[in-house]
Amino acid sequence: MENRQTNKKVLVTGGTGFLGVHTILQLLQRGYEVKTTIRSLAKKDSIIKALEEGGITDFSNLTFIEADLTYDSNWSEATKDCEYVLHVASPFPAQDPKDENELIIPARDGALRVLKASRDAGVKRVVLTSSFAAVGYSIDKKNHIFTEDDWTDVNAELPAYIKSKTIAEKSAWEFIQSEGNGLELSVINPVGIFGPVIGGITSASLDIAVSGILNGNLETTPPFTMGVVDVRDVADIHIKAMLHPDAAGERFIATSDGVMSFYDVAELFRKERPQYSSDIQNLEPIGKELYKEMANEKAKTILKWNPRSHEDALLASADSLMVNL
Ligand code: NAP
Repeated sequence: MENRQTNKKVLVTGGTGFLGVHTILQLLQRGYEVKTTIRSLAKKDSIIKALEEGGITDFSNLTFIEADLTYDSNWSEATKDCEYVLHVASPFPAQDPKDENELIIPARDGALRVLKASRDAGVKRVVLTSSFAAVGYSIDKKNHIFTEDDWTDVNAELPAYIKSKTIAEKSAWEFIQSEGNGLELSVINPVGIFGPVIGGITSASLDIAVSGILNGNLETTPPFTMGVVDVRDVADIHIKAMLHPDAAGERFIATSDGVMSFYDVAELFRKERPQYSSDIQNLEPIGKELYKEMANEKAKTILKWNPRSHEDALLASADSLMVNL
C-alpha cells in the first residue's frame, strides 16, 4: 500500500456520499485512522458495504459520529484528536429547491461549524470540497480558460447550488483570515465528478449525466459543456492537498484534460459501450462557442496530481452502474 501512515487521524464529513465514501476508502487503504460524520448512524451499514466492495476487510480504523451541518452538536467530538479534516459534506440535490436557503444555510454554516470546531480542536489543516461552481459561473468571458484566480459572482442571478458553493467557500476563506488562529485551509474545486460507483452510492452528477443519458431520460443536449473528473482522482487530490506543504492557503481546480458536452458523453457511450446504449436519445451536438474550458495546471504542477481521462471516468461510471442494476 502506498504512503502507509500510522496514528494520524483524519475526519471525513459526509461518509454517505459518493465522494465521501471513496475518500474514506483511499485513506483506509493508505493506513490512516478515519472518523466520519453521517447524519444518521442508521446509514453506517451502507458505507461498510461500499468499503467492502472497495476491498476493505478490517474496519478497526473507522469510526462513525452522528452530526448534521445545520446543528452544533457533536462537531467538537468529531474533530477531537484529528490531525486533518476533509470537509466533503454539502447538500447536492439533483434539482434546486424553491428556497435557495435550503442549500446555502447548510453549505455555509456547516463549513463554518467544521472550521470552528477544527480550530478549537487544534487540527492542522482542513481541506474543503468546494466546486468549479465557485470558480466559473456568472462570468461571461469569450475564449477564457478558467483558473483558480476566477470567482463566481455571488450577487449574480444564480441557481441555488452554485450560490451555496460560492458563498460557503468565500465564508471559509474569510473565517481563516479573521478567526483561523493558525488553522490551515486548502480548497478543492472539482468539476463534474464521475468514476466508479461502489455499494450503489451515487450522486446527482451520475444520476443526471450518466443514468439520465443511458436510460434515455435526457432528450435534448443542454447548451453547455462540463469538465469531468474521476472520483478516485478527486479523493486522491484531497489527500495530496491535506499533506503538501504548499497547498495551505490555495484552491485547486480538479478536472481531467478537456471538456465535454452531453452529446459527446452520449457518443462516447454509443461507441465504447453499445451494449448499454440502446435507450440513448438522438442528441444534437452544440456549437464550439458554447464550450467553457478550465485549467488543471496548478494541481498538476504543485500537487503532482495526474488525473485519469474523462473517457475513463465516464466509462467506469457506466460499467459500475450497469453491474449494480
Ligand atoms: P452526494 O453523494 O450527494 O454527497 C453529499 C454528502 O453531503 C452526503 O454525505 C450528504 O449526507 C451530506 N449532507 C448533505 N446535507 C447535509 C447536512 N445538512 N448535514 C450533514 N451532511 C449533509 O454528492 P457528492 O458528489 O459526493 O458531493 C460531495 C461534495 O462534492 C459536495 O461538497 C459537493 O458539493 C461537491 N462536488 C460534487 C460534484 C459532483 O459532480 N458530484 C462536483 C463538484 C463538487 P446524506 O447522505 O445524509 O444526505
